[in-house]
Amino acid sequence: MGGFTDQITECELCGKPELRGTVQMIELDADGNDDQDHYFGTTCAAKASGWTQKKVKEEAKRVAGAKAAAEEKRLFTLWKLENFQTDDTQAVVDMTGLRYTELKSLFRRDLHSCL
Ligand SMILES: [Zn+2]
Repeated sequence: MGGFTDQITECELCGKPELRGTVQMIELDADGNDDQDHYFGTTCAAKASGWTQKKVKEEAKRVAGAKAAAEEKRLFTLWKLENFQTDDTQAVVDMTGLRYTELKSLFRRDLHSCL
């Protein structure tokens, strides 16, 4: 199962429109690879997975959080490479004399200013 998205608001299973959002259900092919994405309302996602609706919501939230963290990590690496020609955080800390938290807030500021 993937995360929750508010970009798609129609349940693919029952066609119910104007939902607050849908849960991404990932169908695996015979080899176990991600094959096709489906977007179900939480009620249908619960029915399809055999989970409670509460568990579906919790899992979707967890996945979305993990994805956001992975994306930030990826962007932080790119940012370090672009600005300091290394993705070694310790090297950047040594180079700039900034603390790790200061470096992170600098990164976040840059990230938001270019979006
Ligand atoms: Zn539905």
